[in-house]
Amino acid sequence: MFLRDYGDTEIGGFAISAADNLLLIEDVQLVKQQCTTVTVVFDDTAVADFFDEQVDAGRRPEQFARVWIHTHPGKSAEPSNTDEETFARCFGSSDWSIMAIVAAGGATYARLQFNVGPAAAITIPMEIDFTSEFPGSDCEAWEREYLACVRSMDAKWWDCRTSSLLDERLLDYDDTDWFTSMEAALTKEDYFD
Ligand SMILES: [Zn+2]
Repeated sequence: MFLRDYGDTEIGGFAISAADNLLLIEDVQLVKQQCTTVTVVFDDTAVADFFDEQVDAGRRPEQFARVWIHTHPGKSAEPSNTDEETFARCFGSSDWSIMAIVAAGGATYARLQFNVGPAAAITIPMEIDFTSEFPGSDCEAWEREYLACVRSMDAKWWDCRTSSLLDERLLDYDDTDWFTSMEAALTKEDYFD
């Protein structure tokens, strides 16, 4: 929650599961990323380093490379088209994976996807397990992690977009609506070109 609310962009990371219960998430690790209010792009090298560190720490890939968690600054936790593409591209080759989204308004979304055998997907509820041990909050460490990893691209992104298509009001949309509007705008523009 601390990381979700620290900045005003989306942020994302890998969830780290308990060794004996892969659906129990014990930690979330950010990696270097460029973020806007509607997208998160991980740095490839940072992801590779994260995987190396996790292996060195004695974890198995199913503990740290299957659950992708990211935030939405708006109210909606529904995955956007970009989320679906990222999930399919980056997590579609594992035997199973989970896309989890935590929205600033409190809404959550989690989908477990099986990519082997008869491929199937189910949405699963997300809840906080108060029975497991929790090491306590460390806001300073979280803040350091955030500042080390997250780079907001909104300003730059604006420069190249404002002039052509978008209108400031679009920023208030949650990302699903936003993408729909933008797709519509782009289609219209192509049409008139
Ligand atoms: Zn998203």
